[in-house]
Amino acid sequence: MTDALFSRIDEKRDDLIALTQDLVRIPTLNPPGQFYREICDFLQARLEPRGFTCTLIRAVGAPGDSEAYPRWNIVARRDGTRPGDCVHFNSHTDVVEVGQGWTRDPFGGELDGDKIYGRGTCDMKGGLAASIIAAEAFIELHPDFAGAIEISGTADEESGGYGGVAHLAKEGWFAPDRVQHVIIPEPLQKDRICLGHRGGWWAEIETKGEIAHGSMPFLGDCAIRHMGAVIDAFENRLYPAMAERRTEMPVVPAEARQSTLNINSIHGGEAETPDYTGLPAPCVPDSCRMIIDRRFLIEERYDDVRGEVIGLLEDLKATRPRFDYSIRDLNRIDPSMTEKTAPVVSTVHQAIHDVLGTAPSYIASPGSYDQKHIDRIGKLKNCIAYGPGVLELAHKPDEWIGVTDMLDSAKVMARSLQTLLLP
Ligand SMILES: [Zn+2]
Repeated sequence: MTDALFSRIDEKRDDLIALTQDLVRIPTLNPPGQFYREICDFLQARLEPRGFTCTLIRAVGAPGDSEAYPRWNIVARRDGTRPGDCVHFNSHTDVVEVGQGWTRDPFGGELDGDKIYGRGTCDMKGGLAASIIAAEAFIELHPDFAGAIEISGTADEESGGYGGVAHLAKEGWFAPDRVQHVIIPEPLQKDRICLGHRGGWWAEIETKGEIAHGSMPFLGDCAIRHMGAVIDAFENRLYPAMAERRTEMPVVPAEARQSTLNINSIHGGEAETPDYTGLPAPCVPDSCRMIIDRRFLIEERYDDVRGEVIGLLEDLKATRPRFDYSIRDLNRIDPSMTEKTAPVVSTVHQAIHDVLGTAPSYIASPGSYDQKHIDRIGKLKNCIAYGPGVLELAHKPDEWIGVTDMLDSAKVMARSLQTLLLP
């Protein structure tokens, strides 16, 4: 049975290549979030003749949704002949900007040896194509399967997923009574299972001062010096405290197995207009703003993470003359981690063993992806990221996906369907 499945997928090699190329040639750049409808129509035209019922869902009112750039999503469902679990493959259809440094056509889908080049090949149209080939091969061999297979193509993962998976989750598409297993074919490598990701909190901190003539700074109050005190507090108190906190999550790279804080930007004083030269600079700045990006662990609570920073700011307010601040929350991502004992994890684990002959490693992502919405909004815990591609190639120039890797991953996905849908 297994051999027949694997050779069926090998026979689909040319189809897999052509499908990946077709997907890459639809330039679903985000921003602005374009051609979402076109890629949904393409997926519908592909999957409907193969027995899938397709629903197109626009995330009306979601951030970024507009008449010019509507946030379209597709959920394609193929029911089996008997009751059973539903296995859902979720891929985002958006790709990031092209950037500089390409030697290949970013939307050409050029095949060279074992590699297909283009923006989104690795992240993650190659994974989407692999999941489609896996489902089709499985259905051809086992038309009498139990349960259901769903394949979704969703918008805006690269900008937070609010017009994509978050919207679908709010509308109940990932409710545990209709979907039981979710595999997100993000490019985490064909021999690794990604159990989840860290959380994140972005905020803007502003320190206040008082404007005065720069020749008499004692008549004003320098907001940048106050921000210096904030950074000092971070260096002396926050960074050492965060370094102590280790996570049980198998985050790669291992340096990210602790809490981290990045200071994204800082700005105080005169506005930097395009023709800014640095002169004249006659004033004491009355405002300084800093954006922070705090990534936190599954073991930490959002309120504590936020409270820790506010505690430092309040301490400064109590001890430093004229210190005042405001803080504005910009974004919140809750961490997510699926248990290793979850059915989808053990199933894919065994499938990787069957296909590659090696035990997979478990990892977690230092950043995030759409699992957060499936977990936190959809309340579905049985979810992993598993798919072909080298994560380090994502968002890079000359991004590519390996055809062999896609075939192997498709075999793992199809083998997982055998385990879950052939009771
Ligand atoms: Zn991605």
